Amino acid sequence: MRYRSLCVEQLELPLVEPFETSFGVELRRQFLLVSVASSEGLVGWGECVATRDPLYNEESTASAWAFVQENVVPRWRRHPPMSVDGVRRLMQPFRGNRMAKSAIEQAALDLEARASRRSLASWLGGRRRRIEVGVSVGIQSTPTALARRVGAYLEEGYHRIKVKVMPGWDARPLAAIRRAYPAIELWVDANQGYPATAVTSIRAWAERYEVRQVEQPFPERALAAHAALARNASFRVCLDESVVDADSLEEAIRLRAVQSLNVKAGRVGGPLEGIALARRATRSGAVAWVGGMLESGIGRAHSVALASHPVFSLPGDISASRRYYREEILERPFVLNADGTLDVPTGAGIGVELDRRAHRRAVRRRRTYALAP
Ligand SMILES: [Mg+2]
Repeated sequence: MRYRSLCVEQLELPLVEPFETSFGVELRRQFLLVSVASSEGLVGWGECVATRDPLYNEESTASAWAFVQENVVPRWRRHPPMSVDGVRRLMQPFRGNRMAKSAIEQAALDLEARASRRSLASWLGGRRRRIEVGVSVGIQSTPTALARRVGAYLEEGYHRIKVKVMPGWDARPLAAIRRAYPAIELWVDANQGYPATAVTSIRAWAERYEVRQVEQPFPERALAAHAALARNASFRVCLDESVVDADSLEEAIRLRAVQSLNVKAGRVGGPLEGIALARRATRSGAVAWVGGMLESGIGRAHSVALASHPVFSLPGDISASRRYYREEILERPFVLNADGTLDVPTGAGIGVELDRRAHRRAVRRRRTYALAP
């Protein structure tokens, strides 16, 4: 592969409704798209899932852009890579910046798959033609409003409901959901919102309301608290923010703090590392699944391709486009099938194309960096 240029764009899309987690409220999603062009004129796309402010982790759209411009592009020009592996190697000496690295790796993967006229899903070893998905529901004004919202998603076809919880927003909303829907598959995600002293209270409401999975209740370094919660629990303890690389996963496995792994390519530095970590987690007896970061269509297409890989065995947080955005930047948005699945695109690369006008409307800034003389 001969790479010609790399382009970074900052986009902004209004969300269908404010998305509230224990971190705060998002009204508009600001994110970056990275595209890499080959000298043959093909273009591959990736999405950087960092947010405007560094709330989920230390990265932001501004830090990701600076990393690409100040570190990746100059090194790329000095040591031109010839393949996805070469692109990964050139970024490897740089610490952190995993969301930015992931966006670049995604773009290189899309380009590679397009050049070989294969779908990215099959290029990654994916076998599924449809992937099961669930929906993640933000914090609502009242428990009744939450139960109503859950009902609407169930009607749309989602089978698995994950609700965001935080101290003061857990037992009551879960009771309201269980009263209305006694049999649904119910997960919760606390985005590190609880102190390590909350093990007993979390266990009480999770068991009482038959929660199947409790995701990242404690701070990312509090692996011992996650292990304590997992001991003899009737639910799985899932890690998200705690696992960013092979070392953090090894530590979590050693402490028995992980029965389920939420894999987000952005959090771990790329889809290929995501597959590697999922493999390691499943060898330890855990299950793995693909999480979400309010991606636009490009990131969503990458998540769908990733989730088609057999190492992932639970429904992902990969909703249909209209769950989050009124206007999608793709020509053909992802639509939920009646059985709670999304189709895995079969076209070359990620198998989706940008809607030029919608894309242009969403772009706020753009810069192209030449990679070859
Ligand atoms: Mg999470």
